[in-house]
Amino acid sequence: MKKTLKDIDVKGKKVLIRFDYNVPLDGNLEITDDKRIVSTLPTLKYLLNENVAVIIIAHLGRPKGKIVPEMSLMPVSIRLSELLGKPVKFFGGDCISVQSKKAASDLKPGEVLLLENLRFHYEEEGKSKSGERDKAAMEAFAKELASMAEIFIQDAFGTVHRSHASTVGIVKYIENAAVGFLVEKELKFLGEVLENPLRPFLAILGGAKVSDKINVIGSFLNRVDAIIIGGAMAYTFLKSRGINIGTSLVENDKLDLCVELFKKAEDRRVDFLLPIDHIITNKVNFLNKDIPNDATVKTTLDEVIPSGFIGVDIGFKSIDKFSRMIKSAKTIVWNGPLGIFEIGEFSKGTIEIAKLVAEGTDKGVISVIGGGDSVAAVKKAGVDKRISHISTGGGASLEFLEGKELPGIVSIPDK
Ligand code: AMP
Repeated sequence: MKKTLKDIDVKGKKVLIRFDYNVPLDGNLEITDDKRIVSTLPTLKYLLNENVAVIIIAHLGRPKGKIVPEMSLMPVSIRLSELLGKPVKFFGGDCISVQSKKAASDLKPGEVLLLENLRFHYEEEGKSKSGERDKAAMEAFAKELASMAEIFIQDAFGTVHRSHASTVGIVKYIENAAVGFLVEKELKFLGEVLENPLRPFLAILGGAKVSDKINVIGSFLNRVDAIIIGGAMAYTFLKSRGINIGTSLVENDKLDLCVELFKKAEDRRVDFLLPIDHIITNKVNFLNKDIPNDATVKTTLDEVIPSGFIGVDIGFKSIDKFSRMIKSAKTIVWNGPLGIFEIGEFSKGTIEIAKLVAEGTDKGVISVIGGGDSVAAVKKAGVDKRISHISTGGGASLEFLEGKELPGIVSIPDK
């Protein structure tokens, strides 16, 4: 068991805490969803009650080691200050500048300081200026951050599957470290699913890229009783079976791997479900997520997609087939939409599956949903409150459920 915030005497001390403040911003740099900030309030209030001087570190977007003013954490500092009802100190530019370090050293008990976007430093992600892996640079950066406080709390679940300065680096220099309330909750919930899932255990995987999730599928086949593959991922699997998929998204270099995964599923007697019909179109704008007015949209009769057409959602027969499997499951893990759900016409499959998972949960099924798009989809379906656990880390929750060790958790000392 990892040390948690309540195992450490924080009273009156200076604490460095890693949060997930990677919030969506609109063109005017207004925060469009502050859920991630709101979710840190219980931890912050606990720390302030203990008269702690709180230094927060976080990242926003993918600035790739450069100062990108549009990815500043300034809007987060303003929103956080409103929510806490007290000032949040913030200095733009550089989280380890002389000014930031002075602010950290002058910080009094009961005060809050938010440091600028960690990823303005390439060292955060363990890289050198040229993009090569550079552990020494990462450690030097971590040491600078660590020098600001006496205790480190890891509370950003979304990044603990990465070996970054703010996940593994800092702990080398601050031994007094623990996980925060949010990470503790994730570990408790996902740990129970990993160790003792109620069976049948079903995984539903969708989304666009097979390459991102192929390893997950391989390890899930060791754990689950059934797996449903939807979204663009399904077409690579269908093509590997010799089925015509028109011009749907496909990863041709993964076809052999798909064949191996079918074989593994068969050997392990895991039900492996693919769509048996599709919603297809001849034109779609992947980037803007819209369809031109002159596009033709139709449903296929079976799994075959005619030439010139792209699969964009699962069809009604597939929904029906998947629904029977969902209704029989006792534990469901879901990551990735089953179609281009951002486009209303192509969201039906994902929305129906979300409703079925929620109905199951109402009857006692344990459901875990992770990944930004799947979470957005259950919200769109209006069933987010009926899911057992919505994980704050899509990649991290999948890696955890695969049975992999998460570097940012391993680095935290045991109780
Ligand atoms: P991922 O990040 O891998 O979970 O992928 C999420 C994205 O997959 C969403 O933006 C969906 O629009 C997209 N997606 C789902 N199904 C399809 C499909 N059939 N064709 C293209 N993109 C898809």
